[in-house]
Amino acid sequence: MIDSSILTIENSPIWRPFTQMKTADPPLFVKKGSGMTLELGDGRQILDCISSWWVTIHGHSHPILAQALTEQAQQLEQVIFTAFTHEPAETLAQKLLDHLPQHLRRVFFSDNGSTAVEVALKMAYQYWQRLGEPQRTRFLGFTGGYHGDTLGAMAMGQSSPWWHPFQPLLMSLETIPFPATFDQDPAVEQKEAASLACLSHLLNQHPQEYAAIFIEPLVQGAGGMRMCRPEFLQRLQALVHEFHVLLVYDEVMTGFGRTGELFATLKSATQPDLICLSKGLSGGCLPLAVTIATEAIYQAFYDDALENAFFHSHSYTGNPLACATGVASLKLLEHQPQIYQRLESLHRQLAVHYLQDQPLVENLRFCGTIMAFEIKTNTQEDYFSDLGPWLRQEFLAAGLLLRPLGKTIYLLPPYCVTELELEKIYQTLPQVLAKLAKLHSLIPA
Ligand SMILES: *Cc1c(COP(=O)(O)O)cnc(C)c1O
Repeated sequence: MIDSSILTIENSPIWRPFTQMKTADPPLFVKKGSGMTLELGDGRQILDCISSWWVTIHGHSHPILAQALTEQAQQLEQVIFTAFTHEPAETLAQKLLDHLPQHLRRVFFSDNGSTAVEVALKMAYQYWQRLGEPQRTRFLGFTGGYHGDTLGAMAMGQSSPWWHPFQPLLMSLETIPFPATFDQDPAVEQKEAASLACLSHLLNQHPQEYAAIFIEPLVQGAGGMRMCRPEFLQRLQALVHEFHVLLVYDEVMTGFGRTGELFATLKSATQPDLICLSKGLSGGCLPLAVTIATEAIYQAFYDDALENAFFHSHSYTGNPLACATGVASLKLLEHQPQIYQRLESLHRQLAVHYLQDQPLVENLRFCGTIMAFEIKTNTQEDYFSDLGPWLRQEFLAAGLLLRPLGKTIYLLPPYCVTELELEKIYQTLPQVLAKLAKLHSLIPA
């Protein structure tokens, strides 16, 4: 048994993700999770305001998901997925299709958001070869896009500041400005027009060379909870279809109710050719992902020759435990859509009360269960500045798990959050901002 009270970053053998091990604080030891609440080793309780990196959509240790998991574990825990299948995978695939636009018909399983993106990338590339257009080797993406940490996924999110050391290894990507907007943004139409003009210019320059365009629809997550309008996605779709470029929606974060509807594709009334789903897919219990393709893409691989198949698999592809929690999670969302539908108006009411008149708050924005704003600063603090760690500590001291992205503060709670819990979170925000204003000269630029 590990004594959590003496656990430090030096005496643990674990090399932590996204962490500078030399300067990081020791990790917090979590003993237990229940709903919004995490119980730490020292008995402290904190509210998980970001669904543990955007996955825990129903809150921690949900009894129905736990039951689905234990029942499945006693039935079948894992099986090779090439020549075999099983009930949870078949049910989950069918249920997903029931909720997506009709033309999305074929469900390819993998393990996480990054692999879902890799699969989409490889499918798009091979699709054009199968169609006799092998010159379509260029890819398009958006500034601020993030699609995961494997090499292909990194390439599709190239504007991320984290990838500089790997730049020489990444395949090339052409990026279009993302028309990030917020409440009462007077320039939104201009930004959208500029973005589409840039895209149109590239497409006209190399009309038959682009394979696909990748976008996080409605909300760019890691890029700073940057939001665009459904109208933009509709115009984007029209333009890329005109040039026969495949439209890939990375709904790894926006899927499963996050945007206030089950999927951003439904909320925006648009129809991508490929859609990537992961984070909320298993209800936040186990790693699982799918890439869902149109019948047309599937048919391009459908052939007598083995070499024309789509060659991609992982050891745990279609894991029965993960699929079983996925089915249970989707049923929860189906039976109670109001759990995610109700949150936007609640966010808005609380933001009007607690944030609207705060001098340090700018670009306030909402999309379904997500609220975000920037801290107004005179300096150009970037992701690596000390503002983030300082804010994290302050929120933690107030009992909240929040992880600002640079100077962007956002809430992305599990759908089980109560009005009372949400109000407590909103009450804390102006207190921390007031402290920040007082100390501002102490924070390095
Ligand atoms: C988190 C995320 C990914 C990567 O998913 P992992 O499971 O961390 O590999 C990809 N795309 C988006 C939009 C994400 O938010």
